[in-house]
Amino acid sequence: MAIERVAIIGLGLLGGSIGLAVAKHIPTIATTGFDADPEARQTAASRGLVDLVCDSSAEAVRDADLVIMCVPVGAIGFAAETIKDALPKAAIVSDVGSSKQSVGVALRAALPGHCIIPAHPVAGTEQSGPEAGFPELFEHRWCILTPPDDADENAVQSLTEFWETLGSKVEIMDAEHHDLVLAVTSHIPHLIAYTIVGTASDLEDVTRSEVIKYSAGGFRDFTRIAASDPTMWRDVFLTNKGAVLEMLGRFTEDLTALQRAIRRGDGDALHELFTRTRAIRRSIIEQGQDDARPDFGRSDHVTDKSDDH
Ligand code: NAP
Repeated sequence: MAIERVAIIGLGLLGGSIGLAVAKHIPTIATTGFDADPEARQTAASRGLVDLVCDSSAEAVRDADLVIMCVPVGAIGFAAETIKDALPKAAIVSDVGSSKQSVGVALRAALPGHCIIPAHPVAGTEQSGPEAGFPELFEHRWCILTPPDDADENAVQSLTEFWETLGSKVEIMDAEHHDLVLAVTSHIPHLIAYTIVGTASDLEDVTRSEVIKYSAGGFRDFTRIAASDPTMWRDVFLTNKGAVLEMLGRFTEDLTALQRAIRRGDGDALHELFTRTRAIRRSIIEQGQDDARPDFGRSDHVTDKSDDH
């Protein structure tokens, strides 16, 4: 199946980046887009995030071969309802949501009989909104597709090729497995960052200023993650509740073991863990998923732009 017209619903970081990446890598594809926020539509038009910014989601999808829902995961069901009467029968419907089981359920409920192939580009930044998108966001990043067992193979192939052309590496995965893996690699790290930064912000004013002053000791790397979009992350935790709670249980047990090692002065246990974790960092660099330079390669005033979510 050849994709010639792509409709993007939600023109924030992810939607805007897809529009710009299509213009860069596959300019023969025509793009339309819609965002619920009128100001976002205006910015999208002035930045040229898509070829045509529409006044309704129905108008945006009317002639589409591929529709990509780029809204917070909690809003996907509602957004899908708004396109159901205008959606061409043969169109592929996909998304970019960070949790996958709940998205599949919401899309299948709203759009029965349509070809639905959920997807998650594991690429993002702590920025959001229509100003935040850039065309290189997906380059050398993974995009995980979670097609249902009975998905049309040609459609899965077309979507795979679409993401590969935008620069991504594509992996096909079961939605339940996706949610468990991402709970560990993305959702729990975000929860930890929100916790640490929240704790610091609850401290006395005078101490808080010292926290900021000496943040290069490690704290500032958490603050970048904890600056991520509140709506997006609220929805991720509410829609991937089971996997997050399961992994949080494991994390809490490991944290308790560390607490015990510190209390008992068990240096060997601490050293053994820190040696294992250092090896993981090396593997991430070897696989091209981060910068090998010290402090992520940043100078004092320059921060890293791209990140995995
Ligand atoms: P974003 O920058 O906040 O953009 C989302 C846009 O969708 C906002 O402009 C929002 O408008 C709009 N919207 C909300 N409900 C809508 C609806 N019913 N119809 C049309 N537009 C609607 O968010 P994002 O970072 O691009 O995230 C979008 C999706 O990508 C989420 O599902 C997230 O899980 C996933 N994702 C994000 C990242 C990341 O790093 N940010 C990475 C991978 C995947 P309002 O602001 O008015 O609500």
